[in-house]
Amino acid sequence: MSNSLIITVLGSGVSGLGVALKAKEVGLKCILYEARDSGGGLLDNFFVQEFRFDYSVHLSFAEEKKVREIFDKSKFIKHSSESTCFEQDKWLKHPVQNNLFPLDLKTKVELVESFIKRPKTLGDKSYKSWLIHQYGEKISFRYPLKYTLKYWNTDPEKLSTNWIGKRMRRAELKEILNGAISESTPNHYYAKEMRYPSKGGFKSFIRPLLEIANVRYNHKCTEIDIGKKQLFFKNKKIEHYEKLVSSLPLPELIKLIKKCPLPVREAAKRLCATSIDLVSIGFNKIITPKLWFYIYDEDIFASRAHSPSVKSNDSCPPNTSSLQFEIYSRGLKSRYTKKSLIKNCIYALKKMNLADEKDILFVDHRRINYGNVIFDLGMEDNRKIVRDWLHKNDIITCGRFGEWDYLWSNQSLMSGYNAI
Ligand SMILES: Cc1cc2nc3c(=O)[nH]c(=O)nc-3n(C[C@H](O)[C@H](O)[C@H](O)COP(=O)(O)OP(=O)(O)OC[C@H]3O[C@@H](n4cnc5c(N)ncnc54)[C@H](O)[C@@H]3O)c2cc1C
Repeated sequence: MSNSLIITVLGSGVSGLGVALKAKEVGLKCILYEARDSGGGLLDNFFVQEFRFDYSVHLSFAEEKKVREIFDKSKFIKHSSESTCFEQDKWLKHPVQNNLFPLDLKTKVELVESFIKRPKTLGDKSYKSWLIHQYGEKISFRYPLKYTLKYWNTDPEKLSTNWIGKRMRRAELKEILNGAISESTPNHYYAKEMRYPSKGGFKSFIRPLLEIANVRYNHKCTEIDIGKKQLFFKNKKIEHYEKLVSSLPLPELIKLIKKCPLPVREAAKRLCATSIDLVSIGFNKIITPKLWFYIYDEDIFASRAHSPSVKSNDSCPPNTSSLQFEIYSRGLKSRYTKKSLIKNCIYALKKMNLADEKDILFVDHRRINYGNVIFDLGMEDNRKIVRDWLHKNDIITCGRFGEWDYLWSNQSLMSGYNAI
C-alpha cells in the first residue's frame, strides 16, 4: 500500500478503532464513519439519572500484548470470575453440572446416574447431541438445553458446536461427583480474572484508541456504490473511498450494496444473530454482591443479569446499586413487548429475593439489534459466500459482525488491527 492511500472504515466500534490504530502505526490516513453521535459501538455506555450502564456485562480477560498495552492504560479493578446460577429457589455455583450440591439427594442421584449412562458417541453434529454426549440426558434437559432456548432462542438441534471453544466446561465424573457431595469446588471458568476500569465504564479501556482515531460521527451509511466507490450517508453527504473496511453486520452491509447478486443477498439473509432487550434498573440500596448470574427458569425471560455497581462503584451514587437483565430474541425483532419485559424483570427480582418495587428508583429499557452471531448448522457456508464476494469487490470486513464470529472485545480489536 502506498503511503498516500486513505483507509475508509465503516463503524467506530473497537474493531474499527483497531483499523485506525494499525493505520496510524504504518503511517496511513484513516477516516471512520460512525452512525451514532459517539464511538465505541457495543463498548459504549449510557446514563440513566446518575447511573452508568454498559451495553450488557462487559468485563475484560484480554491476553494479547497489543490489547493489554491499550486497555492497561486505564486503572482497573480485578474481579474473580466466580458466578452463580438461579434455578427456582436455589443459587448454584457456575457451571451447574459441577455444583449440584444444593439439590436434594434423589435429584442428584438421578442426574449423576444419567451422566454415567450418557451416550459414548455423538448422535449427529448438532449442539443438542453434543450436550447429551457431554452431560447425559437429565443434566442437559434440566440446564443447558433449557438455557439454549433462552440465550440462543433457537432449537438446539439446529445449532452447530463451532462456537463452543472454551466457553463450556467439558464434563468429568470426578468434578461432577465432587460438586454433588461438597459445596467447596474449584473455579474452572476459562478466565481466572476479569478486569474492569475503576472509572468511566468499559469504554475507558478504549479511550486511547478513540483519542487517536479520526471519527466522523452522525454518518450513517445508507448506500454503497461499489462501481464508483462512493458512500452515501443519511445526512446527505457522499464520500469517495479508495480502500473500504467495514465492521457493520454482514446482512446490513449487503443491504447497502445495490449491485449485489441474488445468491449473495440470499446467503446474507440466512445469517442470523440474536438481538437483546436490556432492562437496566437502579436501586435505592445495595441489593446484591453478585457480579453476574445466569437464570434457568422459563418463567423469567432474562437469561443473564449483571451488577454494574459491583463492576465498579463509580457506576452509581453512594449507597445505591444497579442490575441489568439481558433478554434474547432470534433475529431483529424482540419476542416480547416493553411492558411485559419490565413486568417480568420485576417479577424476577422478587422471585430471586433480591428486591421489590419499593427498592426501585427507575427501570430503563433499550435494545441491541445485533448481539451474538447464531451458529446455525451450515452458517459458515453462507458466511463464506458473503465474505468472498465482498473481498472480490475490494471490501474488507472485520470485527464481531464483519467476521461474523463470536469475538470478545480484544478479538474484535485484533480483527480490525489485522484487517489491513
Ligand atoms: C451481550 C454481550 C456481552 C459481551 N460481553 C463481553 C465481555 O464481557 N467481554 C468482552 O471482551 N467482550 C464482550 N462482548 C463482545 C464485544 O462487545 C464485541 O466483541 C465488540 O464490542 C465488537 O466490536 P465491533 O467493532 O466488532 O462491533 P460494534 O461494537 O457493533 O461496532 C460497529 C459500529 O458500527 C456502527 N454502525 C452500524 N451501522 C452503521 C452504518 N450504517 N453506518 C455507519 N456506522 C454504522 C455502530 O454504531 C457501531 O458503532 C459482548 C458482546 C455482547 C453482545
